[in-house]
Amino acid sequence: MAFELPALPYDHDALAPIISAETLEYHHDKHHAAYVVNLNKLIEGSAFADRTLEEIITSAPAGGIFNNAAQVWNHTFYFGAFSPDGGAAPEGALGDEIAATFGSFDDFKVAMSTSAATNFGSGWTWLVRRADGQLAIVNTSNAGNPLCNGETPLLTIDVWEHAYYIDYRNARPKYLDAIWDIIDWNVVASRG
Ligand code: MN
Repeated sequence: MAFELPALPYDHDALAPIISAETLEYHHDKHHAAYVVNLNKLIEGSAFADRTLEEIITSAPAGGIFNNAAQVWNHTFYFGAFSPDGGAAPEGALGDEIAATFGSFDDFKVAMSTSAATNFGSGWTWLVRRADGQLAIVNTSNAGNPLCNGETPLLTIDVWEHAYYIDYRNARPKYLDAIWDIIDWNVVASRG
């Protein structure tokens, strides 16, 4: 069964000015959509045709099928954590864990933004729960996904240039400073 592009859970202009409608028109409607189209072409008639996205990501060898499957998953996960009403600090158990692990919520934001700013080239920066239950910040390159390392993703920041170049040009750190105001921590907490 073919994969489908998930609709954004908000209007295209809902995240402006942090992420503009124009960025979402390219990033979701063109880039994310293209990964779905490419994946469906690549898996048609293959052993992956009836697998879930997670099964493909954790079993496909390096190459086109992995890259497109992971990019479909990563973008759905990325767009799914935003809300125009986001930005407050995480509450409850996740908020306590973040403070205990990173020192404070502000320290966590600095650590994750620094990791993302120094993630060389194209990739993703993640808050994950490791197999041992601990929270950690990890970088992946290109389409990389922490599911391949037995980690549970909680939040991701896309640091491919297409994620921020329309709104921030080359200034990746400005994008990373601003993005915290649209994170929906209720969504992040629900992910484990
Ligand atoms: Mn992207």
